[in-house]
Amino acid sequence: MIWRSLFLTVLFLNFSALAGELKLSGNMTQGGLVVGWAAPGAQIKLDGKTINQAKSGDFLLGFGRNAKRSAELNVQFKDGSVEKRNLEIKQRDYKIQRIDGLPKRKVMPNAQDLSRIKKERVLINAARRIEVSEALFAAGFVRPVAGPVSGVYGSQRILNGQPRKPHYGLDIAAPLGRDIKATSAGVVVFAHEGMFFNGKTVVINHGLGLRSTYIHMSALNVKAGDQVVKGQTIGKIGKTGRATGPHLHWGLTLNTTPLDPQSLLK
Ligand SMILES: [Zn+2]
Repeated sequence: MIWRSLFLTVLFLNFSALAGELKLSGNMTQGGLVVGWAAPGAQIKLDGKTINQAKSGDFLLGFGRNAKRSAELNVQFKDGSVEKRNLEIKQRDYKIQRIDGLPKRKVMPNAQDLSRIKKERVLINAARRIEVSEALFAAGFVRPVAGPVSGVYGSQRILNGQPRKPHYGLDIAAPLGRDIKATSAGVVVFAHEGMFFNGKTVVINHGLGLRSTYIHMSALNVKAGDQVVKGQTIGKIGKTGRATGPHLHWGLTLNTTPLDPQSLLK
């Protein structure tokens, strides 16, 4: 009898340990990133879409600018047990941001500019397809540069009076030449010395489809293929590309969904 109850206890503990091993931390809000961990070998789905899990058990959930009020997370563990969670996603209001005084060509590019923009898009899209399967972001996140926020994520933009797509990133105003740091550990998948809109640009892949982008820089300290650690200097503050003054535009994307970099710092 003792043996039987001991056996059942062990069985029960095992089961609850496996089923309970699901951790989520981050911001359940539009534009938010959630870092998750589940016992390795799980099958994870968010609203029916498969979510990649690193060998370490880490995974990422991202909620876009217009994410719905709720999402269903479904985790099937290796032992067959299933845990379902209904996630409530906080809805946000977005501002309208008007920027005037931009050079005319940066808002209404000519035919020659358009062909250059197209070529640059091909290059950056190829870099976006590079996959990093390790959870390098597990190092945590830092703010890339100190300075006041001059533009927030999600705002509807009107440039020189022309409606443009929403602002997907965080603008931090800072003096020309100040060091810019990698927000987390990763692999530099893209480094460009002068894009039409973005100017000097770096993209870092932090694993599992999470990428940070740094644009308008005045100098680059890294090249494509470099491994960087969290907080490593990758370039300097500038105003290259479409910018009215020195600042960093810091972007964050999970696969193809632009997220709010500010969600990493809360
Ligand atoms: Zn910006």
